[in-house]
Amino acid sequence: MDCIFCKIINGEIPADKVFENDKVIAFLDLRPVNLGHTLVVPKKHIENLFEVDEETLKEIIISAQKVAKGIVGALDLKGFNFAQNNGAVAGQIVPHLHWHIIPRREDDGLHPWTRTEQYAEGEKEKIAEKIRGAIL
Ligand code: AMP
Ligand code: ZN
Repeated sequence: MDCIFCKIINGEIPADKVFENDKVIAFLDLRPVNLGHTLVVPKKHIENLFEVDEETLKEIIISAQKVAKGIVGALDLKGFNFAQNNGAVAGQIVPHLHWHIIPRREDDGLHPWTRTEQYAEGEKEKIAEKIRGAIL
């Protein structure tokens, strides 16, 4: 399979690993948003959040918490973003599930979420109702 993260996991290409256990690996992002930007990745090839089983999901999130604590301690941070992209439209480039841990520093100039949208009268309630009805 031609998956860049599977190649890292299999040792076919190098990465700056910071954490590894039997289910999860974490390594530095090659093109960081901020220095120390780290990716937390299941060793199984899973494409996105919908494909992952609950057991693996737990393992990833628990590992990510450990890794994030390490990053915050090592780099003396006051905060970080924990983000995960699903689908090309959301900016997912690598179709192998991963979470980004992005170190944040005061005045780093990052504005990851712009809030320019507004609900029309009654629209918010309708959308909430629609979503409520679709959650299984
Ligand atoms: P996403 O846009 O959520 O799919 O993020 C994929 C991330 O993987 C990007 O931030 C890339 O910079 C990063 N990336 C791609 N190839 C490598 C690699 N060989 N080693 C480390 N990070 C990589
Ligand atoms: Zn893969």
